[in-house]
Amino acid sequence: MESTETFPWLLLVSPLLALLPIYFLLRYIGRKTQTEDYDKRAHRREALNCPRCQQPMQPGLAMLGRGLIWREPDAVGAGTFAMITQALPNTISMNIRPAYNRAWRCQHCSTAVIDYTKMVKVS
Ligand SMILES: [Zn+2]
Repeated sequence: MESTETFPWLLLVSPLLALLPIYFLLRYIGRKTQTEDYDKRAHRREALNCPRCQQPMQPGLAMLGRGLIWREPDAVGAGTFAMITQALPNTISMNIRPAYNRAWRCQHCSTAVIDYTKMVKVS
């Protein structure tokens, strides 16, 4: 008798319990990510030359989606199923209006430089 009354509760609660680790992971990453308002002028003043061909680079904003997954050349594993936990800090936006990373790109040799000291919000 009692078990039939608790069954619908289990159906409701089980999916929520399964989502709890994801919720806490996203909250942890959101708190760890440093974000500030984007300063376009400061970004333009920070002129970079391409590390590959030494041409002046164009400033811009990069959205990295699931984050910048970094792997050392000799590292084993990861690859296809790169986890959100392997992303470099300040490269995953948890905001509804996504935050970006300051970046520079070289239009001559298709090289990009990403700044992940913090993320920036564009108003
Ligand atoms: Zn270049």
